[in-house]
Amino acid sequence: MAELRDDMTPFEAVTYFFDTVADVVEMDPATRAVLAGTYREIRVQIPLRRDDGSVETVYGYRVQHNGARGPYKGGVRYHPSASLDETRALAALMTWKTALVDVPFGGAKGGIQVDPTTLSKPELERLTRRFMSQVSYIVGPHRDIMAPDVNTNAQTMAWMMDAYGQRAGHTPAVVTGKPVELGGSLGRDAATGRGVVIVLDEVIRDAGQSPGDLTMAIQGFGNVGSWTARLAAESGYRVVAVSDVKGGTFSERGLDVEQLIGHQRQTGSVVEFPGAEPLDNAALLELDVDVLVPAALGEVITSANADRIRARTVVEAANHPVTPAASQTLGERGVTVVPDILANAGGVTVSYFEWTQNIQQFSWDEQRVNGELARHMTTAYRKVRDYAQGSGCDLRHAAFAIAVQRVANAAHLRGYV
Ligand code: GLU
Repeated sequence: MAELRDDMTPFEAVTYFFDTVADVVEMDPATRAVLAGTYREIRVQIPLRRDDGSVETVYGYRVQHNGARGPYKGGVRYHPSASLDETRALAALMTWKTALVDVPFGGAKGGIQVDPTTLSKPELERLTRRFMSQVSYIVGPHRDIMAPDVNTNAQTMAWMMDAYGQRAGHTPAVVTGKPVELGGSLGRDAATGRGVVIVLDEVIRDAGQSPGDLTMAIQGFGNVGSWTARLAAESGYRVVAVSDVKGGTFSERGLDVEQLIGHQRQTGSVVEFPGAEPLDNAALLELDVDVLVPAALGEVITSANADRIRARTVVEAANHPVTPAASQTLGERGVTVVPDILANAGGVTVSYFEWTQNIQQFSWDEQRVNGELARHMTTAYRKVRDYAQGSGCDLRHAAFAIAVQRVANAAHLRGYV
């Protein structure tokens, strides 16, 4: 039975969302046990040689949650707070996400517990190659396909592809999110942010609103936050606040996103953007805006601040930014929460396009990528919306219900459980 507690770990929280659905659909105990658990978890030791010759020992994780619908799929993050529990949670979210947008993958996630801002580029390269070689026995283009996540990018994927290729021969499909020059897909860089805006546009249209009337605040200005800001501004939303790890910037009139991206490139941060006011990360979440987009780390909206969120729509561009208790509070207060497994699924959707292009050795133009992305995202959103309307539940419950039943069905058809 699903039981709501305030102090859940990330994996307990994601399992709670799963359990809520398993209760409602009266899932049989065997299937429930399989889907609530993870298939394989590994922790690897990575002796990292620093540039000064010293060796630091760091640990990396790869968790494969469920592979009923296809090869395991999911990103790898480099972060001091990466842990096995968090990696499990993010792996399970990938299982539900790939099922919801109907791409033929299972779910996995990786993490290295390290602060990448303290590492030089050669150190990052050595770390990445060593991690790939330590996990190379369980990954592969038809086994488990890694991708970028927090603090990893196309360069990280290029090193991973190269390290894997040294063992197995040239295998671009072993990772996605690669540089376009090495078999990456056009449109992959923008894909998560593009998906966020596609789904938000649908939500807004269904609510009888139009982007030009709405203000938006975005927490996080990495790949997802900055692309969301850029594409949202193009769609007509007034982006009034954004932040990064160093702090935030606010302008009632709306920020010029292109100039802000230039400022960030020059100074390394969005803070001290000329003509705008400073703002801290906690205050950004509580701004009086129409749309709030947490696009950084997990668990930023909790029972400690859920009461003070003033946005009427929260779009989970990050993974697991809202705890179960906060999700319930927001729901009771009439706030629409667009869940992560729907809102940020554009990234893995274009990862799937990249993987198919690699397997077929045939590249798509960007128009085709963006068109197919829009089709997958709108189809998924409308299914979720219709389910939510039909059964009187919120969007998260509907998204989990659709995803969980697809995965359960695949596991049954295979005879796995
Ligand atoms: N890390 C992204 C996510 O959380 C993308 C995963 C992928 O492309 O495999 O969805």
